[in-house]
Amino acid sequence: LVLPPETALSPLDDGAKADLARTAAEMLEGLRRHGGGPDGSVTRLVYSQEWAAAMAEVEGWLSGRGLETRVDAVGTRFGRLAGVGEQVVLTGSHIDSVSGGGAYDGALGVIMATCAVGWLARALGAPRRSIEVLANCEEESSRFAGNFWGARAMLGLISPAEPDSLRDAHGVTMGEAMRRCGLDPARIPEAARSDIAAFVEPHIEQGPRLEAAHTQVGVVERVVGVRQLEFRFEGSSGHAGTIPMDQRRDALVAAAELVDLVRRTALETGDGAVATVGSLDVHPGGSNQIPGDVRMTVDFRHADEAVLDAMERQLTAGGRAAHKRHSVSFATHVRLSQPPVEFDRRLQDVMMRSCEQASCSWMRLPSGAGHDAQVIARRFPAAMLFVPSRNGHSHRPEEATDIADVVAGIEVLIGTLHQLAYVAP
Ligand SMILES: [Zn+2]
Repeated sequence: LVLPPETALSPLDDGAKADLARTAAEMLEGLRRHGGGPDGSVTRLVYSQEWAAAMAEVEGWLSGRGLETRVDAVGTRFGRLAGVGEQVVLTGSHIDSVSGGGAYDGALGVIMATCAVGWLARALGAPRRSIEVLANCEEESSRFAGNFWGARAMLGLISPAEPDSLRDAHGVTMGEAMRRCGLDPARIPEAARSDIAAFVEPHIEQGPRLEAAHTQVGVVERVVGVRQLEFRFEGSSGHAGTIPMDQRRDALVAAAELVDLVRRTALETGDGAVATVGSLDVHPGGSNQIPGDVRMTVDFRHADEAVLDAMERQLTAGGRAAHKRHSVSFATHVRLSQPPVEFDRRLQDVMMRSCEQASCSWMRLPSGAGHDAQVIARRFPAAMLFVPSRNGHSHRPEEATDIADVVAGIEVLIGTLHQLAYVAP
């Protein structure tokens, strides 16, 4: 991928920007109807009726722009603007949401991709290299613990046992939910791809950094590594009124030391480190009972795996110290360990150049949340483009992005796709 720099598009004029703003806003409202609640929330779980209706609407957008539409074996939608050769430049994001989420997470990326490819199709016609818009079926793991289901299907990383073993809260298996949408779980391997030249995922930032920097577009350098531990302290429960203080083995008192240590570990590590105790199970849990058994989760994130290792050592050492101090037992295990993922440097360079040509404000930043692009990046060049989240809100009804920032992001995506699909040899 050696790109001649003189082949840039000229910046969009005000009329084109106004068109894109109107179209993107209409699409956002259109998708919001599928799973939208009276409080502004959106709940669009994979393979639900709302999900199917949203996918049908997206398919209409794609075919209305002259793209060839296709559904893969897990229900992901693609709209293809055909070029020559086998290789495909892929762009888009996911359609499913968390429960009680917002209208922008995932959906805005699909909309931005649709708008950008629609603009290119109308203005420039067929590309040299095919472009496909992606409306991915499942990213959030909000109905099943499917964990990047659609992206894993594209990489052939779904094991044959998964459709029957994953169950939602009502006991419905992934396979059954697929069949209700007319999809055959036995055909999942057919979703695997080998033809992706590049994947560019537009997405909301889901944090406050772009807004704080008054910046319209983020070029994402990497997705930070995530580690989750479970800590368990076992002491002895008993009557809160009769056991003297010097004879107690209170598991929650030990755990409380860890809650504070988790926060201090992230602060002392600095450099973007974050750490959270997100759940605490206290047993027996009565107001007049000494806590005898406590389980807690610790989620910590950083861009450098060696730093994650150091944080883990500090936290488990703290757990052992609390166990000695309070005469409770201590056990720990790793629930999740996702290494940091670096995005493709050449794609980042193309996006940065596209930001300069679009004359928008931009910065490089890491992603603290997980995304489909980090899965695709295991096998194909991948990158992400962020637009700001108002007040940093995400996974809640207040998700929003200023429409001018959406348009700036679409313009950068247009320039990026132009470089990758029309200019690149
Ligand atoms: Zn998302």
